[in-house]
Amino acid sequence: MSLLDHLSAKLNAIAAQSLTRTLRRADGGTAPRQTINGRPLLMFCSNDYLGLAAEPAIAEALAEGARLWGGGSGASPLVSGHSAAHEAVTDTLAAWFAPHIPEARAIGFCTGYMANLAVVTALGDEHTEIFSEQLNHASLIDAARLAKAKVTRFPHADLAALRTALAASTVKVKLIVTDAVFSMDGDLAPLPGLLALAEEFDAWLIVDDAHGFGVLGAKGRGSLEYFGLHSERLILVGTLGKAAGLAGAFVAAHATIVEYLLQAARNFIFSTASPPAIEHALLTSFALIEGPLGAARRANLVALQARLRDGLMALIDRHPRLGWHLTDSATPIQPLIVGGNAEVMALAAALESAGLRVPGIRPPTVAAGTARLRITLCGTHTTADVDELLSALERAAAAQEQAA
Ligand SMILES: *Cc1c(COP(=O)(O)O)cnc(C)c1O
Repeated sequence: MSLLDHLSAKLNAIAAQSLTRTLRRADGGTAPRQTINGRPLLMFCSNDYLGLAAEPAIAEALAEGARLWGGGSGASPLVSGHSAAHEAVTDTLAAWFAPHIPEARAIGFCTGYMANLAVVTALGDEHTEIFSEQLNHASLIDAARLAKAKVTRFPHADLAALRTALAASTVKVKLIVTDAVFSMDGDLAPLPGLLALAEEFDAWLIVDDAHGFGVLGAKGRGSLEYFGLHSERLILVGTLGKAAGLAGAFVAAHATIVEYLLQAARNFIFSTASPPAIEHALLTSFALIEGPLGAARRANLVALQARLRDGLMALIDRHPRLGWHLTDSATPIQPLIVGGNAEVMALAAALESAGLRVPGIRPPTVAAGTARLRITLCGTHTTADVDELLSALERAAAAQEQAA
């Protein structure tokens, strides 16, 4: 069979399950109101939770960074790609996490996907067992597959099941791996309970804070600050393309762990360092996150989350036959669980024709039968934006109920 025929058959099977994904073209920068495929839309889908991607000070800092440093870094970090700008970023992050991780040090990566592959494959050697949370991000799942370690999955937020698995383990090193904020549900991992189990069973806790960094905690340092955690067993992965408004990722951990990553993490050693201009701009992003602008945007997010949840609960009550429900989320990720793939795509399409972009999320990204609208809020959305979403959803719900 030719490869093209083989792939066409697979593409047809994807389409038959209403699972075809399509690229849309942004004609302007990330913002709550953005032009997509030539049409202005009100967006509830980006992970730019603080609106920093559109912040003029960030664009200015990027331009300044480009003037200072030019284009790319030219090499991997250990060859010549590691600049003073890179070092200022990791030094700042080490200081940020010093209250949470003794002898904290940080190391940078180009993306969160790379950082997760690096930390899980470098630490997950043949003497190790990885205890992986059921709802972990795809990059952590791929990382666990690549690692030489034994992998044991534990059910979502189930501390009792994890305890049983840890107690049964006989390996030298145990690594618990979890998202801090689950990307498709918006709920928080029970990090204090996970850390207590790590202490009890001599395990280490890798926390992927892609959706917490910048958003959670009084200073925006993320889930460790939010829960007030402190332990040398914490290995934090943060990403810089979401609330930080730029690109990149980091691991912050005890200096010995970071030194080992520098020696052994193939994704660090064999990949070109990020452009120094991005690192230069990240310093501005960090100052905004911990300063008054970050605090004001986080406060606005909390207010918008409450308004959206109240509105969605009222809508669900008005249309009980649709069987929609919410997750237990206290973050800017506020999914509306609809159920079927075709239903969620029809709903997303109805919103889009009303001028709103809210992505429908289907299996395999989420479990079968739990297709959902993944609504994300931004600190630069207004209450009027949230109300516009709620009224468009009300019209779409009434239409779906009539059709059913
Ligand atoms: C987005 C995301 C990543 C990947 O980060 P990128 O910088 O986008 O590669 C990793 N983990 C989680 C939980 C994410 O949501």
